[in-house]
Amino acid sequence: MRLNNRISIVASGTDGIGLSKEADATVYLVNGKSECALVDAGFGNTTELICDEIQRDGYQLSDVKKIILTHGHADHAGGVLELAKRIGAKVYAMESTALAMENADMEFFSMNAAKKAGMFPDDFILKACEVYPLADGQQIKVGDLCLNAMVTEGHCAGHMSYWGDMDGVRYLFSGDAIFYHGKISVLATADSNIPMYMRTIKRLYQLKPDALLPGHGCFTLSGADKHIKKAMGYVKRLELPKNYNEDLY
Ligand SMILES: [Zn+2]
Repeated sequence: MRLNNRISIVASGTDGIGLSKEADATVYLVNGKSECALVDAGFGNTTELICDEIQRDGYQLSDVKKIILTHGHADHAGGVLELAKRIGAKVYAMESTALAMENADMEFFSMNAAKKAGMFPDDFILKACEVYPLADGQQIKVGDLCLNAMVTEGHCAGHMSYWGDMDGVRYLFSGDAIFYHGKISVLATADSNIPMYMRTIKRLYQLKPDALLPGHGCFTLSGADKHIKKAMGYVKRLELPKNYNEDLY
């Protein structure tokens, strides 16, 4: 579903816009004209639905040269190996996530604990995948656009957000770092980290994006800074912002 001539949503589960299957996080396509990139890859049972949606929005699968992962959780990255093979794209993520993905290390993102808690199906297995590492501040060229990698840990280890200025609008692809209404996603897992999360919110607040495109829930194409300001208000009082997960269960 095209949001404008630069951004499409090509997958989104039941806590998004319900475009694909329930377990999918929202997957965005970024159009850099001579090439495209996807931000995240979905859970893994929707590869053909994603391919259909890319083409329905007027793009060729071969236009998509890169898949950029926000983090390794199954709803964002479970489908990346199959999708990357199907469309012939290279996969990118933060260095530590790239290493964990290459080693199919589910412990790194606490995915074994998440499976036990019923967040992912019992039979889910992370498949090893070649992933190119990204450092904080690294620029990723997508045709005439540039996406900037920003470490935004706190939700889980190895989490990055990506931002870019396109046609006068600052877009933030925030994964599970920050959501509409300034909600966050702290988990009771070994790699969810509150001090890191507070730093993440401060960094995102300084970025002052216009468009907030998170991995779940509502998105907005304008006024994103107001949502992040709401989270920042909690941080200034040394409180945790509202937790998005409370809406899910
Ligand atoms: Zn997550």
